[in-house]
Amino acid sequence: MSLTLTVDGERWRSHLREVAAATPGLVPVAKGNGYGFTLGRLARKTQWLRDQGLHDKGLGGDTLAVGTYDELPHVATRFDGDLLVLTPWRPFGSALETDPALSSRIIHTVGRVSDLADLLARQPDARLVLERVTSMLRHGLSARDLWTAAAMMRDHPQARLEGVALHLPLAHGSHLPEVSRLMNDVVAAELPEGPGATTVWVSHLTRDELDRLRTSYPDFTIRPRIGTDLWLGDRDALRVTSTVLDVHPVARGDVYGYRGRTAPKAGHILVVSGGTAHGIGLEAPTGESTLRARAATLARGGLDAAGFVRSPFSIDGKQRLFAEPPHMQASMLFIPRGAHVPAVGDPVDVRVRFTATAFDRVLVS
Ligand SMILES: *Cc1c(COP(=O)(O)O)cnc(C)c1O
Repeated sequence: MSLTLTVDGERWRSHLREVAAATPGLVPVAKGNGYGFTLGRLARKTQWLRDQGLHDKGLGGDTLAVGTYDELPHVATRFDGDLLVLTPWRPFGSALETDPALSSRIIHTVGRVSDLADLLARQPDARLVLERVTSMLRHGLSARDLWTAAAMMRDHPQARLEGVALHLPLAHGSHLPEVSRLMNDVVAAELPEGPGATTVWVSHLTRDELDRLRTSYPDFTIRPRIGTDLWLGDRDALRVTSTVLDVHPVARGDVYGYRGRTAPKAGHILVVSGGTAHGIGLEAPTGESTLRARAATLARGGLDAAGFVRSPFSIDGKQRLFAEPPHMQASMLFIPRGAHVPAVGDPVDVRVRFTATAFDRVLVS
């Protein structure tokens, strides 16, 4: 039986429309597990946004960003606009194995001067963004390298510069001082004339920061790349459930599980769908972490004292404990005597990290 993501379609779609309408130049990001929805579904949804004419109103939807070259086949047939690849191009691996039919739609990210030379030698008319490294220190060019890259671009008039990319860290305070410094580098780089010279692709800026950036640089087109706040921004539209597969009453001392544990007290073993294959992992142990609190728990004979660990499954709003570590597709929970015991077939709410969960089914109403 399944671990299911149920989406309130009306609510989800109106959130997507609202974000798109409030975010000029929006570039939806679909990568990894498709934020739980799958890449194919996010590509179709981006096409749906595009079909509403957002781009004609300057509201984006013309470009979809993927994380890696390997993800392109999952989205390319479901979305017909431009495809920005976020992982920088390198002269090896899947970057060199793209479908030639897609080459006019792919926008490469270039983060090293040597890669720019290499890419332009292989594909003189490549479309690309130059990535400027940020305080994240993940990928990208220094200010001086950006200037060198701009000179190389001027020498390759066939190449199509689509802008400069900045991947900012998740906010700790305001991004604006850093962004202004980086914008100075972009202005000083003497990028070849064209729309790309005044287009900046950014991530993780708040709406307020984006507004202020647009006000400070009115000649620039700002392209916010957004995944989490777009697809997962309205959590109340999303519900994750597993299903009760079996229920076994146990007395204190009864043996159960792969490891032949014994029940520390009477209650029920509940077998629910969802395990390691779905990304369900062990959570932090329950209870307080101080020694004194720990001793008090031991004295009370709490289940965490018996080594039970908190699970992400909750029943009647209460997070339940794993009876043992999750199995591949199912988990065993311990329900102490006195607590409500759901029946086989009942749904059980699960708290998950959407970006790390493989759902068996995604149901969009
Ligand atoms: C993943 C990613 C994003 C989107 O990040 P979210 O936090 O999901 O919005 C934007 N830019 C780059 C370069 C990324 O890798």
